[in-house]
Formats: sequence, C-alpha cells, structure tokens
Amino acid sequence: MMDINEFIMSNEAIIRLSFFLGIFAIMALWELVAPRRVLTVSKVLRWSNNLGLVFLNTFILRLLFPAAAVGVAAFSSEQGWGLFNYYEVSPALAIIASVVIMDFVIYIQHVMVHAVPVLWRLHRVHHADLDYDVTTGARFHPIEIILSMLIKFATIFLLGPPVVAVVIFEVMLNATAMFNHGNVRLNPVVDKWLRLLLVTPDMHRVHHSVEDDETNSNFGFSLPWWDRLFGTYRDQPRGGHENMTIGIRTFREPKMASWVSGMLVMPFIGKLSDYTINRRQWSDESGNCTGIVPDDASTPSIHGDKNEK
Ligand SMILES: [Zn+2]
Ligand SMILES: [Zn+2]
Repeated sequence: MMDINEFIMSNEAIIRLSFFLGIFAIMALWELVAPRRVLTVSKVLRWSNNLGLVFLNTFILRLLFPAAAVGVAAFSSEQGWGLFNYYEVSPALAIIASVVIMDFVIYIQHVMVHAVPVLWRLHRVHHADLDYDVTTGARFHPIEIILSMLIKFATIFLLGPPVVAVVIFEVMLNATAMFNHGNVRLNPVVDKWLRLLLVTPDMHRVHHSVEDDETNSNFGFSLPWWDRLFGTYRDQPRGGHENMTIGIRTFREPKMASWVSGMLVMPFIGKLSDYTINRRQWSDESGNCTGIVPDDASTPSIHGDKNEK
C-alpha cells in the first residue's frame, strides 16, 4: 500500500510543475484580456530574461538540494524532530498551523531582506524589474533563492510540519506569487474583500514602487494579515496604480534591470552603505519627511563642533 507521503515524495516535482504551468497560463491570459498597466519594456525581452533566471534557479536548486523541502520534512518526521513530530496533534491542525507559520517566516524573511543592506542587494533583483507582471513574481537572484531554501530547511527542522503541509505551502506560495504580481485588473470591491484573505495584485504592487516608504510596505506574499498585524500595511500607492513608477531608482536601464546578465551582477554594484537603514533623514515640524541628507552634505553636526563658523 502506498502511503500519501510516499506518493507526494515521488511526485513532488510534477505536482509543483503542473500548478506552476496551470496558474502561469491563467495569469498570462488574464494579463492579455484585462491589463492593469501599460508595460514600458518589451514583453518578449522581459519574459525571456525573467523566465531564463527562473530556469537557472530551478536547475541550481535541484542540483544543490535534490531532496528539496519535502525531503527535509520526511527526514524530520523519521527522526522525530521538530514541534509537530514531538507533540502529537490532529493532522488537520498540524497542516493548517504549519502552513500559517511557514508563511509568517517568509514575511519576517522578506522584512529582513529589505532591512539589512547586504541582503537588500540580493533582493533588489526582484524589485528592479521595470514592469510588474506574472514573471516578476518568480525572478530572484540565485543567492537569495539558496538563502531562502536554507531558511526553509531550518524552519522545517524546528517545526516538523507534515510532508503534505510543505507541498501545500510551496504550491500556495508559488501560486499566490504569480497571482499577486499579475498585471491584472480586479474589480475594486472584489479586491477590497479578497485582500482580507489573500494578498491581491493591487496590494503587492505598492511594494514594487520606487518610493522607499511604499516599497517598505506590504511584505506579505500569501496571507495579508502579517502586514496589518505588524504595522507594515499600506492601502494604495500615492501615484495611483496606473501612474506609479515601478522598480528601483538607481537601476533604470533595461540592460541592467531586464537582462539576466544585469540581474546576476546587480548585488555586487555600488556602495554598501547607501541604503535606507543607515541613511540620515529629517522631518519638518509637521512630521513630514522633507528630504535625505547625502553622505557628503555639509550640515551642522549635532555635536556642534563647527557651528560657530
Ligand atoms: Zn521585497
Ligand atoms: Zn514582489
């Protein structure tokens, strides 16, 4: 008799590939029928390069981690490692709790790759896309993909989720990433209600704005609750969905932002110190941020050393 775990283990790749292709096709069609924004770069150029990076990442992952996350979950269960292998709970509870907790870990990971300058260098490859569509959802630098996988393995060792939960989680993350990066028009009323349950395209698009305060909002990939709970939720972009600028201020040329070669070298370009967390900002009396002090600005020091002039 073949056990469900064995079935999933031996068909994991085909299950995930089928969902990927099915949802990709639906989103691609939806983008053709009801696009939200006009694309600024040729679709052929962006898609061939974004998907080229996806194939490269898939190849690297299969080479480095042939057992993948399900293999790690099966191994943990054999060893009796992790919370849900240690304490007996109902399978339904273990599955639901595991999926929710793994999604929370992804949220925290996403906040961290924005907060830590060296990790932002990797993650900005995802953000540098000059347009926002279904292929944006899967473009990540290979090093970030490997790092994500290692974090996922560590989470599985500690959590001991059922193998089924890991497959559900991976399929859900992949499916929602394609959905919420979709360049698709969704009825505002539907969007308003749907985003109580799921991150919608309009919700995640805010996160791809060139504006720092907007990009550092809406970190959730599947479940929208973490942003509301932890204070990173932002309803809409200031410029509106059609007019907002997508991408990163410093990478505007397609050669760098749209070609695989540019994406691969992007983490290694520029100074390490020029990012939000270690950059000075000030506010006027009303609390509005008025600007950014460049590193070399000759503003008086707060220690008052050369204030007399
Ligand atoms: Zn991000
Ligand atoms: Zn994104």
